[in-house]
Amino acid sequence: MTELPASYYRATATAYGGFAPLAGRHAKRVVVIGGGYAGLNTALGLAERGVGDVALLEAETVGFGASGRNGGFVFAGYSLGEASLVRQLGVDGAKALFLSTLGGVQLIRSRVGKYRIPCAMVDEGVIWANWFSDPGVLRERQRFLAENFGVQWDWVPRATVRELLRSERYGDALWERDAVHLHPLNYAIGLAQAASQKGVAVHEHSPVQSVERHGEGWRMRTTGGEIEAEHVVLCCGGYLAGLDPQVDRAILPIATYVMVTEPLGPRLRECINTRAAVYDTRFAFDYYRPLPDSRLLWGGRISIRDRAPGRVRDLLYRDLLKVYPQLAGVHIDFAWSGLMSYARHQMPQIGRKPNGIWFAQAFGGHGVAPTTVAGELLAAAIANDDTAWQRFAPYGLVSAMRPFGFLGAQASYWWYQARDWFADLRGV
Ligand SMILES: Cc1cc2nc3c(=O)[nH]c(=O)nc-3n(C[C@H](O)[C@H](O)[C@H](O)COP(=O)(O)OP(=O)(O)OC[C@H]3O[C@@H](n4cnc5c(N)ncnc54)[C@H](O)[C@@H]3O)c2cc1C
Repeated sequence: MTELPASYYRATATAYGGFAPLAGRHAKRVVVIGGGYAGLNTALGLAERGVGDVALLEAETVGFGASGRNGGFVFAGYSLGEASLVRQLGVDGAKALFLSTLGGVQLIRSRVGKYRIPCAMVDEGVIWANWFSDPGVLRERQRFLAENFGVQWDWVPRATVRELLRSERYGDALWERDAVHLHPLNYAIGLAQAASQKGVAVHEHSPVQSVERHGEGWRMRTTGGEIEAEHVVLCCGGYLAGLDPQVDRAILPIATYVMVTEPLGPRLRECINTRAAVYDTRFAFDYYRPLPDSRLLWGGRISIRDRAPGRVRDLLYRDLLKVYPQLAGVHIDFAWSGLMSYARHQMPQIGRKPNGIWFAQAFGGHGVAPTTVAGELLAAAIANDDTAWQRFAPYGLVSAMRPFGFLGAQASYWWYQARDWFADLRGV
């Protein structure tokens, strides 16, 4: 088979002139390193608060990392499940963090409108479909969210699920209505353009090579320039920047995969008769959503290996046919992988080191809304000395213990995957 072009998102990206690399010497109040959502939201949040003296430095192009490659699901919560969050923080602490991500979803909606970001946003929610026949897991989560957080996910009975998703695989489902999906790279480009229009100096192809103390502030060097700043914010996700050993050590970069079919025309509706995005109740779940040009975007699996597009396609194609055998023979036009950044505690790391360096990372596979939250918290902290970011203090920069952490992550993924298989075999 011929080699696949990489990302569908890249192939359908908003055309823009590019942001010039940093050249020469500059001084700013704030330098944000990393042009993913965490960095872009921080920079835009600062500009929206009237801090215009900001530069954002991206090693490649904005959205190069996970932010331009993801599934496009924008929903509440974190990689860490809600029950664990409540166990660790108590109901009030967990509720505050959970509801802040719903605020993140809302802020994304309003920024897409306000800045007219052309990112094909679909405001139809996300369906969580039960892979197993026992509805207990759905009932329990629905009750838990309602009782602890006052959040309602709608019950979708099996018969309705069958009308929406023409697959034999699923039982009932829950519908998280207050969720959207969008073209993640075009959303990232739109955020960068909005920040730039508000005065942020965005620089692409500007890998930061060093961050060092300079008087009361910091000095950063890139291949083409040098910049001094009072504040520096590290937002480099799983694409480890190598700038601060403690910040890097706290991250496990984990790969996950996405593919996109050819345009399916009416065949799409014969499989997926909804505009909502879909994932399932397994630990190693599939996630997918219809695209505006009648393609199907399909993602899943996590691995410590960043695989080539052809291999990604082969793995995901098998998964697709388990759910929609009627799509046998469809051509896969794109396949790619991306790196998520995980902390051992599975929560974002948002805060400030004792030496003053700000950081926002470890958003895992559930990062679109939480990176928006992080941007708001850090922008408010830097602009107004707001202390709300300290809500994330329980989730600090603990070492991810690479390389052993990789083995642990892969082993636990296989363990949960095996548990899913056994549950499937038992028909529960
Ligand atoms: C395939 C995939 C599917 C996903 N699906 C979803 C989903 O559907 N919904 C959801 O909520 N989340 C999803 N996620 C997770 C989500 O995309 C991430 O949590 C989020 O994008 C992380 O943003 P970030 O800014 O922290 O990191 P990134 O987007 O990875 O950005 C980090 C940036 O830092 C830059 N950088 C690194 N070093 C330097 C340096 N030295 N100098 C300058 N720049 C540097 C990198 O080039 C990169 O652009 C998915 C992730 C992947 C990979």
